[in-house]
Amino acid sequence: MNDLQIANSVAPWPIQDIADRLHISREQMEMYGKYKAKIPISLIDEEKVQQSNLILVTAITPTPAGEGKTTVTIGLNDGLNQLGNSSIAVIREPSLGPVFGIKGGAAGGGWSQVIPMEDINLHFTGDFHAIEKANNLLSALIDNNIQSKTRNQGLDPRTILWKRALDMNDRALRNILIGLGGKNGGIPRETGFNITAASEVMAILCMSKDLEDLKERFAKIYVGDRWDGTPVFARDLNAQGAMATLMKEAIMPNLVQTLGHNPAIIHGGPFANIAQGTNSILATKLGLSLGDYVVTEAGFGSDLGAEKFFNIKCRAAGISPRAVVLVATIRALKYHGGKSLKELAEEDLVALEKGLPNLERHLESLQSFGIPVVVALNVFSSDTDAEKQLVLDHCQKLGVQAALSEGWAKGGAGCLDLGQKVIDAVESCPNSFQPTYDLEDSVLEKIKKVSQKIYGADEVILSQKAQIQLKKIEELGYSNFPVCIAKTQKSLSDNEKLRGRPKGFAITIREFEIAAGAGFLVPIAGEILRMPGLPEVPSAESVNINSDGVISGLF
Ligand code: ADP
Ligand code: MG
Repeated sequence: MNDLQIANSVAPWPIQDIADRLHISREQMEMYGKYKAKIPISLIDEEKVQQSNLILVTAITPTPAGEGKTTVTIGLNDGLNQLGNSSIAVIREPSLGPVFGIKGGAAGGGWSQVIPMEDINLHFTGDFHAIEKANNLLSALIDNNIQSKTRNQGLDPRTILWKRALDMNDRALRNILIGLGGKNGGIPRETGFNITAASEVMAILCMSKDLEDLKERFAKIYVGDRWDGTPVFARDLNAQGAMATLMKEAIMPNLVQTLGHNPAIIHGGPFANIAQGTNSILATKLGLSLGDYVVTEAGFGSDLGAEKFFNIKCRAAGISPRAVVLVATIRALKYHGGKSLKELAEEDLVALEKGLPNLERHLESLQSFGIPVVVALNVFSSDTDAEKQLVLDHCQKLGVQAALSEGWAKGGAGCLDLGQKVIDAVESCPNSFQPTYDLEDSVLEKIKKVSQKIYGADEVILSQKAQIQLKKIEELGYSNFPVCIAKTQKSLSDNEKLRGRPKGFAITIREFEIAAGAGFLVPIAGEILRMPGLPEVPSAESVNINSDGVISGLF
């Protein structure tokens, strides 16, 4: 059976039954049909947030298909519940870009999925639409303002940084001309679209504490400069009130269930290469308020998602995980050991051994945060006993806890050993995490610390453009922001071709972006696109719906 068939083979329970277990009353829920509900952020209990146990799931450097963080997150959550704990999976909402592109959905896999899988992967509860609308409202206000004779802010159209957003991989929208058609068509200018998951509105939603904070962050969005060089913010266009109004429902996290009928909260979905890569702070805090354990995921490898999870999200939210699960696959390790993507199903102990330094590097980076780490070997049916043993033995040699994760094949029952090891890790967790850098460090110092301690780089190079932008960042008073480095997910370095454990490399920062509303700087290493394109054979071509409304081809 494929993922969709497995998902459809289990009848979901009414969402009220799941909510009952979390002591959420019917009155407190906004029902979205039978199996989805929004839950109010007023249920966040800061005291309980500090008492509950947060578990972060991250991964080694992934292959393009993903290494199974979401799958492990959901399987581990079901395993912890089977072990008698009240545990909630808290994850991101899928973007239609990957769903119709190459990677597929983000609702887990095999017997570790969240359901209803089609809904979650497609429109879900409309959060992405609301984000898109809030984003595009600001765009409309900007273009209306530069057209205005009486209320013109004097924005130089060439400096406008704000782009429109759409949740689709559509490279043709990356760079566009707007305002054509003469006097009534606006002022012509060059601009473009970002994919919604890479938009600042998404980042802001995921960093916000409440509706008021969301509004204040919208007000701080840096739009562009006037002809005299002074900055224009969204508040200068009175945009924040209407933008926040459009987010009235989207700010509420969504409750669904896993295939094991355990609770899952899904909210917000920023990418991890260009944004912070983790679900909203509100969803994490809500999970911690409602359960004793929260299992959450941060995107791509630990160099991207986990680093940002600690240094940006946890720092801002005042929370700290008590255990980190590092997902590794034999497939990815063999890939790092030099095998091609097509050959990953073949047993190859030599390539596997050669790929282990990638795992070691991720372990070292994670250990720098001071939180106990457990390796989860996400088992694929092509893995051989000898290969599995080799990885487990290696972890033992390194003195790291490791367990097989068989949630894909067996659901929660395949994650009991992993679950017990994670509980032991949580109980041994000495204190809160150690950040990689201080907010008071200079911007360059912050980038250096992440590059050296997490990526294993020797040095950082700033392009001339980045140096000029850095001066401007200092002038604008943004030096104390954390850094959300945009880098390829395919390598620990900024060169996607360097697999394994690259050494002796520099990280080159080409330019900076300022996410003043989200509250971080985005130093960009290499070419990172905020609007991806579709692959040669998009998975959209396999998606279909029959006359009974039954969907096929989602994965
Ligand atoms: P990530 O969250 O790390 O990107 P996912 O959990 O979304 O990864 O998994 C990526 C893809 O791999 C999904 O299509 C999932 O069904 C599949 N997958 C994950 N684990 C396994 C496994 N153990 N065996 C087979 N397929 C798997
Ligand atoms: Mg995932």
